[in-house]
Amino acid sequence: MTCDQRLPQDGHITVGRRILVMSGKGGVGKSSIAANLAVWLTLQDYNVGLLDIDIHGPSIPRLLGMDDVKLSQYDGLALPALFMGRLKVVSIGFMLSAPDTPVIWRGPAKHGVIEQFVRHVHWSALDYLIVDCPPGTGDEMLSVAQVLGGGCEALVVTTPQEVALLDVKKCIAFCRRMAIPVRGIVENMSGFVCPHCGRTTDIFSHGGGEALATETGAPLLGCIPLDPQVAVCSDAGRPVVLSAPDSPTAQALMHAFRTLSVGTHPKKPQGDPYEDCHPTV
Ligand code: ADP
Repeated sequence: MTCDQRLPQDGHITVGRRILVMSGKGGVGKSSIAANLAVWLTLQDYNVGLLDIDIHGPSIPRLLGMDDVKLSQYDGLALPALFMGRLKVVSIGFMLSAPDTPVIWRGPAKHGVIEQFVRHVHWSALDYLIVDCPPGTGDEMLSVAQVLGGGCEALVVTTPQEVALLDVKKCIAFCRRMAIPVRGIVENMSGFVCPHCGRTTDIFSHGGGEALATETGAPLLGCIPLDPQVAVCSDAGRPVVLSAPDSPTAQALMHAFRTLSVGTHPKKPQGDPYEDCHPTV
């Protein structure tokens, strides 16, 4: 049978948990945490999809070494690309002619593409859909909350400094307004552990995530150190939970992810009829 013969008539998605990885600001490590979370859940045998809706700055292709991937399309339906042969990944980056091509779209066009990414992709049955969101609370956030419907949960990423915390409060207020429960806050870039002397320096102040958790009532899932290895792993397209799982940073991430996933268990894979059709890295 050819790939085309096995394509569904209509894309479908059934998802256990939909987790929006959000932040008030860019550059706080939201995409890195989304990629590590998706990879870690996949390593725990969950069926996972990773959807990158950061339309103006998609980072997921770079973080997973998928810069050259293009989505396979058949009659308006797309097959997600596979990372590690199992993690299903969709990003606007897979549709750009080059990674530095700018996307210049207004709200309705963004809404259209987010709807396509959810409804016209063969995701099949997932335990988790991890959504890497753009910073802030703009069009994309409204669209994804609307298209995914009820049942979305939020994981909010911040850095310790005051200016990021202010924006994160707006992010949490947005979730409240949209009835999206905030499952936890992750404080990233939280203290630099010197690889030479082992001493910790709080480059961006200290304790902001904890104060935010107390103020908003959302649990602080973990504090992730500022670790040059994260950037090296990101540039190599191999998230740190995969390439350096014993490092303190990977351990801190895994601790946070374990808390987030408590109580949910992987379903048996249902078999993928399109298995050998997906673009794979
Ligand atoms: P965002 O999605 O919030 O814009 P990214 O995940 O793209 O942020 O991260 C921005 C940059 O910071 C990337 O170069 C990434 O490798 C780096 N980075 C993220 N988290 C850490 C960390 N804990 N330690 C060191 N560098 C990090």
